[in-house]
Amino acid sequence: MSGSQPFKAVADAMAAKRVTDKCPMCGTERWGLLSTSDGENQFPVVNTAPKAYLLTCLNCGFVRTHIAAVLEGQEPEAP
Ligand SMILES: [Zn+2]
Repeated sequence: MSGSQPFKAVADAMAAKRVTDKCPMCGTERWGLLSTSDGENQFPVVNTAPKAYLLTCLNCGFVRTHIAAVLEGQEPEAP
């Protein structure tokens, strides 16, 4: 898994690592993967950080962040 991934690929990587589906704010389990209009869904969290997937709870809007390289089984780049 590298570059932009569809929601299922990201969800499968999280399931393989036993990431909980429950929103820590409202307890529901419906998430959306944020992306740009051209389909990019990995974002720099800050200028020096590795890119990350941003998922938003479809019930309350809470946003969670997962470093893409970690989900892909790699060590994240040192800042
Ligand atoms: Zn929520």
